[in-house]
Amino acid sequence: MLTLTEFDDARQPMYDLVRRLFPLCRSITGDGVRETLRIVAEHIPLTVHEVPSGTKAFDWTVPREWNIRDAYVKNAQGDRVVDFRINNLHVVSYSVPVRKTMRLAELQPHLHSLPDQPDLIPYRTSYYEESWGFCLSHRLRQSLPDGEYEVVIDSTLSDGSLSYGECLLPGADEDEVLIYTHTCHPSLANDNLAGIAVCTFLARQLVPAKRRYTYRFVFGPGTIGSLAWLSRNADRATRIRHGLVAVLLGDAGGLRYKRSRAGDAEIDHAVQHALKQSGTTYDVEPFSPYGYDERQFGSPGFNLPVGRLTRSPNSGYPEYHTSADNLALIHLESLAGSLAVCARAVEILENNRRFVNTSPFGEPQLGRRGLYRKIGGESSAAREMAMLWTLNLSDGAHSLLEIAERAGLDFELIRRAADELMDAGLLTTV
Ligand code: ZN
Repeated sequence: MLTLTEFDDARQPMYDLVRRLFPLCRSITGDGVRETLRIVAEHIPLTVHEVPSGTKAFDWTVPREWNIRDAYVKNAQGDRVVDFRINNLHVVSYSVPVRKTMRLAELQPHLHSLPDQPDLIPYRTSYYEESWGFCLSHRLRQSLPDGEYEVVIDSTLSDGSLSYGECLLPGADEDEVLIYTHTCHPSLANDNLAGIAVCTFLARQLVPAKRRYTYRFVFGPGTIGSLAWLSRNADRATRIRHGLVAVLLGDAGGLRYKRSRAGDAEIDHAVQHALKQSGTTYDVEPFSPYGYDERQFGSPGFNLPVGRLTRSPNSGYPEYHTSADNLALIHLESLAGSLAVCARAVEILENNRRFVNTSPFGEPQLGRRGLYRKIGGESSAAREMAMLWTLNLSDGAHSLLEIAERAGLDFELIRRAADELMDAGLLTTV
């Protein structure tokens, strides 16, 4: 039986991982992603796959690889007024190389700022359109005097590859649980690093566990990463029984589950049950074809049972995609709480089975079999109800999770009741 317990011990190491990954300049391709995967690989077994630029992924193409060494805007005095080395958000991700001197008016169309959040640097990308630009606080932008500026982006956009990491943990079954988290953002903490940290430490707990399912953790860029993975693993995708996109898991917001396309898959019930058990406030939303990689896994050609767990969702918090999504936004309790819910959901999936009552004609006598004697203490009424519900609904059609939901009891209570009933010979596996 699989049980996972190390949530509180993991909170500081998860935060330390976020802090260590924070300075790296990630994008959908490039050395920042490779360095990120190398650091993740210090914690869990990880295979890094490289998908060459130009590879078709259904209707998409893996873009050229982007790398950047330096970028700045220098004023006439030679001061770097916008400096990539101070904050990598200052450069629009995938900017083509630039080296020229220009007037402010000529530079303005390449500048991005947030008038409503004048102190924050926005995060912008231009993956599929050749352009360049700088992001800066609106206050700084407004303070720039007219005049000549030296503009340098020392980047390369060339044939290379897209990198993603896979942590494959084989189980007794070939059926797989897929956990996907994206790795394509530069110095933003909650978006993506909190998800990377939670997935890394979930995998780490599963490494020594006796597993029923095979677990596949994929650390890849958003959209093109899941498309590339699916296009190279179409055969393996049919083995995915349960899947979860796990992202945005470190801020102070409550947990939020987005259901799979089908809406009533086992993963949907497992995560919702884990959330209910967590005792904290949470939200559940239906599937929609907008958001993260769940939209690729849930595209009609695949229609995989993949849900999504976040805290504050994308675009759902004021610091989203700005320089304020930094380490100060990450709460250790949030990381630990997110990990705990993911781990509980995994435990439910692992232990969720169907049984058949071997004594289905009338209610079997529990006392005669010593089952009442084991019951004592304040939770005895709930344990008795768990046994009665498990006996009643174990007709081969209802899973333990379905029984727990119908009984309004914790899955763990139902699972323990099933163990005792098995030991007493009153249940048998389907
Ligand atoms: Zn994002």
